[in-house]
Amino acid sequence: MTLEEKVNAVNEVFEKLDARIEAFQANTALHCKPGCGKCCYKPDIEASVLEFLPFALHLYKHHLAEQWLEKLESKNDPLCLILNPTQAGAGLCSEYTHRGLICRLFGYSARTNKYGKKELVTCQVIKTEQAESYREANEKIESGLDIPVMNQVYMQLHAIDFELAQKSYPINRAIRHAIETVLHYYAYR
Ligand code: SF4
Repeated sequence: MTLEEKVNAVNEVFEKLDARIEAFQANTALHCKPGCGKCCYKPDIEASVLEFLPFALHLYKHHLAEQWLEKLESKNDPLCLILNPTQAGAGLCSEYTHRGLICRLFGYSARTNKYGKKELVTCQVIKTEQAESYREANEKIESGLDIPVMNQVYMQLHAIDFELAQKSYPINRAIRHAIETVLHYYAYR
């Protein structure tokens, strides 16, 4: 697979996932508190290189890859570099279209417990401030409501490029490696 084909394949996984999450939200009324973004401020968010390959290719095509690489190399704190709380009325993620897999999954996906039962993985804000909808969502999941299962979606990325998908890095390092991967690809084609 060429790099462009990999990016298309990742975007396809993301599009299908986003549609499932949208349907899940519509069926449960669970939603993010406007302007929240509390989960984005966690200092230990990890991601794989592959999930940021679409973002890296986007930067390369817009001649921004080197500039971003410099920003990432000089950044010392662990907060995600694409988090931007200063955009009026535009959410907290400055690159929402190109956000990573964990940013899409968290809040509205499930893990499978040791009994094979799906458990909603969400935040404290939703659990406490939308307690009734949260309880109902769990009941609906138990009755068969579709919800993306985290490790199944990760497996879809593994199938695209195992090397770039299997290892997790702190989020800024994952973005940096994704940009380096793209620059390296175009330098040696
Ligand atoms: S998932 Fe929870 S913590 Fe994150 S933005 Fe939504 S409501 Fe806030």
